[in-house]
Amino acid sequence: LVERLRPFTSTIFAEMTALATRTSAVNLGQGFPDTDGPEGMLEAARNALFGGANQYPPGPGRPELREAIAAHRARYGTEYDPDGEILVTAGATEAIAASLLALTGPGDEVIVIEPYYDSYAAAVAMAGATRRVVSLVPDGDRFALDLDAVRAAVNPNTRAILVNSPHNPTGTVLTRTELAGLAELCVERDLLAITDEVYEHLVFDDAEHLPLATFPGMSSRTVSISSAGKTFNCTGWKIGWVCAPRELTAAVRAAKQFLTFVSGGPLQPAVAHALRHELPWVESLRESLQAKRDRLCAGLADAGFAVRPGAGTYFVCADVRPLGFTNAEELAWRLPESIGVAAVPVSVFTDHPEEWQHLLRFAFCKREEVLDEAIERLRTL
Ligand code: PMP
Ligand code: GLN
Repeated sequence: LVERLRPFTSTIFAEMTALATRTSAVNLGQGFPDTDGPEGMLEAARNALFGGANQYPPGPGRPELREAIAAHRARYGTEYDPDGEILVTAGATEAIAASLLALTGPGDEVIVIEPYYDSYAAAVAMAGATRRVVSLVPDGDRFALDLDAVRAAVNPNTRAILVNSPHNPTGTVLTRTELAGLAELCVERDLLAITDEVYEHLVFDDAEHLPLATFPGMSSRTVSISSAGKTFNCTGWKIGWVCAPRELTAAVRAAKQFLTFVSGGPLQPAVAHALRHELPWVESLRESLQAKRDRLCAGLADAGFAVRPGAGTYFVCADVRPLGFTNAEELAWRLPESIGVAAVPVSVFTDHPEEWQHLLRFAFCKREEVLDEAIERLRTL
């Protein structure tokens, strides 16, 4: 294995899910739902499968999907031409990797906000670029962006900033002020932004998802990425997309075409259907996830954790110190065996494990009885 990939030989999700399976633990580690998406979408996939949509789709994605993505994105007031400004990818994961491969390289720095989704560091490394990490900071009841720290991280080699909101694992939804500050900085220092918006619909209470591309000066320098997995409970379909100005889309496409070329042919029309017709279903998903977040947070608090509920995503981070533990990573490896619950240590998503050592990430995108069973078991800690 080449040196730049040596830190990335396995993922916490694969390892923790394998451990959960081996120990029959309730798996609140890997974030995937345990119910299916809207029936109309599943039917559309079946119709496509039996209707002959089983060969290579066009390189940029099937036209009806690109059109549906453009219409969906227009809800934010941003316009993308389905012909040249939208690219369908193998999940957001490929979109992120292809963007970094196409737009960054040796000598470039990419600002990554920690804790960060694990594929970011690996994709920056594959591109041969260097990650410069800026930490989120606890601020009252949320983890906040430290704009001064981001500003201080920019230097003449900085090429891009990778921004994930709603944020995995903290659940932070960046505020208008935080995003406006990032936008100003990107314009002032001529940076590209690559945004990971896979949880765009999963925002709670009065939080609002605001795409960075909608801020002044940003549409021309932002690669906006999202995917169907989290919005329509189909994480295994791996249908994602890029919305970006023509030149940036063409660049990302150049990388993407030699990674997978195309993928998910018969699933593309089904996602097009979902984007056009299933947003009411997504609203009910959002409401049920908000209730599940509250259910899990109450249970975790009851079990003795200190919890900082986020305003979005599938996840909540819980501090293990009130229970007398100091090292959440060590605890995470023991929990499946000892009490039958799997969670993910937040420190593995960081370059500063000692600062994040006390947090466990729990996923609440599970049926209520599954959450209740996990809570029962956690009470025995
Ligand atoms: N970004 C974030 C923040 C995620 O949590 C995930 C995984 N669910 C992805 C990207 C990957 O998305 P996809 O499955 O569409 O590749
Ligand atoms: N995105 C999911 C999570 O954060 C899992 C993705 C994966 O298994 N690679 O849990």
